Amino acid sequence: MNVPFLNLRAAHDPLKAEILSAIQQVIESSAFAGGAFVTRFDEEFAAYSRTKYSIGLGTGTEALWLPLLALGVASGDEVITVPSTFMATAEAITYCGAKPVFVDIEENTYTMDPALLEKAITPKTKAIIPVHLFGQTADMDPILEIANRHGIPVIEDACQAHGAEYKGRRAGSLGIAGAFSFYPGKNLGAMGEAGSVTTNDANLKAKVETLRDHGQQKKYHHSMIGWNARMDGMQGAILSIKLKHLERGNEARRTNASIYHKLLAGEQNIILPQEAAGRRHVYHLYAIRTPKRDSVIEALAKRSISCGIHYPIPVHLQEAYQSLGLGKGSFPIAERCAQEFISLPMFPELTRDQIETVATELKLAVRSV
Ligand SMILES: *Cc1c(COP(=O)(O)O)cnc(C)c1O
Repeated sequence: MNVPFLNLRAAHDPLKAEILSAIQQVIESSAFAGGAFVTRFDEEFAAYSRTKYSIGLGTGTEALWLPLLALGVASGDEVITVPSTFMATAEAITYCGAKPVFVDIEENTYTMDPALLEKAITPKTKAIIPVHLFGQTADMDPILEIANRHGIPVIEDACQAHGAEYKGRRAGSLGIAGAFSFYPGKNLGAMGEAGSVTTNDANLKAKVETLRDHGQQKKYHHSMIGWNARMDGMQGAILSIKLKHLERGNEARRTNASIYHKLLAGEQNIILPQEAAGRRHVYHLYAIRTPKRDSVIEALAKRSISCGIHYPIPVHLQEAYQSLGLGKGSFPIAERCAQEFISLPMFPELTRDQIETVATELKLAVRSV
């Protein structure tokens, strides 16, 4: 049986008529760059994230970068994050002129280890970016407690965590700002590129809005150096439709994860993802760990099962960051996980048959390599 890693057509086919009609409305109102459809989506996504504001942007990368700029992060500053993330988290820091400083992850949740955070703080630390990896929030209470004690703002990288919860609070509502990506493959995906910043802070909201529009509050009056980071009108209209299906999708992902769990539990040489107490994991990715990862992926590919690796190289070991001088062994847990992770097929429309096939073939592969 062919099992794709992701199937966007399965999500979009039932919505096609509604989406085409929304695109038509955008064309008829010529609201292409920012505009009414983005404003409406901003209101809806803020309500969903249980924040006062959501500011629609062009990408999730901008959703990390602009709040850092708004907080005044600049050359000579340090921003703390984790090495187990997509490159964009660190890039956003670098694009402010600041230096990314890493702390290792916890082995059970793959998110920032709060026990290591305080040691990484220096007088230059201007922000902390925990990453809600794979759809589960970081352990935010101790992170926020340490950050607050030092007066350092926390920006959540919630690009993989739309609808994830920590003690009943939604991802994106826990720090001063949350960064979301609507890259097509995310739990809430656009039909193109898009992102958003969520916040309860009116001052930060105003700054991010100004920054996304060339630093202008009034047309052609530029009070600061900004950028063009506006959300596309069509993406706003499409995201409003897709947002209505996000909770159903998240619940389907959780069900799929529980089936994987049952079928794979107790298997030697497979470490399953864990949902920590008090957290709602939304399984953007279902990442297991196994030794001999590469051979297992190859064996599964031969059986037409497509998997992913998120991510094969931790950020501090990327060629682009060699200048940081952080060699192998700097962050042992992140480095070991990077060698063992396999992301299994995971999307809401995955069938029970497909999950059973993946589980059966995975067990065979792990036992035979
Ligand atoms: C997807 C992602 C981003 C970047 O989002 P884009 O919309 O692709 O710019 C940042 N951080 C994490 C953890 C992501 O998964």
